[in-house]
Amino acid sequence: MLFNELELNQQLLRALKEAGYTKATPIQVDAIPHLMNNEDLLGCAQTGTGKTAAFALPIIQNIIEEQTAGKGAIKALILAPTRELAIQIGDSLHTYAKYLPLSIQVIFGGVSQNPQTAKLKRGTDILVATPGRLLDLIGQGFIKLNQVDFFVLDEADMMLDMGMLHDVRRILRELPKKRQSMFFSATMPKEIEKLAGTI
Ligand code: AMP
Repeated sequence: MLFNELELNQQLLRALKEAGYTKATPIQVDAIPHLMNNEDLLGCAQTGTGKTAAFALPIIQNIIEEQTAGKGAIKALILAPTRELAIQIGDSLHTYAKYLPLSIQVIFGGVSQNPQTAKLKRGTDILVATPGRLLDLIGQGFIKLNQVDFFVLDEADMMLDMGMLHDVRRILRELPKKRQSMFFSATMPKEIEKLAGTI
């Protein structure tokens, strides 16, 4: 299926074309129409399948359509287990949103928080974060998640392996009840199935 059959806006289509994407991958074909309809999604998918674009494109399009960008509040939160994955997701978001007025920020631990908090003060529409640093900055009052409309939990099974589920549950309590949730995991062990059920 071609991207222009997926009802994406012209700015997204232009950015995708420039990135060399022509056909949507199977997970993109399956997921994008549901996500554009504001449905929740449970995706069993590995890295390399195109799952980042599968959730990123509908999120970008929905924020633009709702005209909530640039108002200072975080509208989308994407949680990833590692700094590398968070950076990769941030890079993909920048590629797709190249022609749209969206602010995107990536935060992770292991580095000074000062550049991250300085940028957060200027407002961000889409935040990509690792769980530990996110909780830290919530605790210090730099981040509020009370206006998040779109929540993505990526690589949930890796988070389980890395002992992050307690942090994830604490973050879930900070999110509005009314939101769209997208949950991705390469495998579905019992613990992850249970977590997905609560989300
Ligand atoms: P992901 O599974 O999201 O980590 O994506 C794997 C790689 O495939 C990334 O480098 C993407 O930029 C690329 N990609 C995702 N969707 C497409 C597509 N429809 N056509 C070409 N490349 C893609």
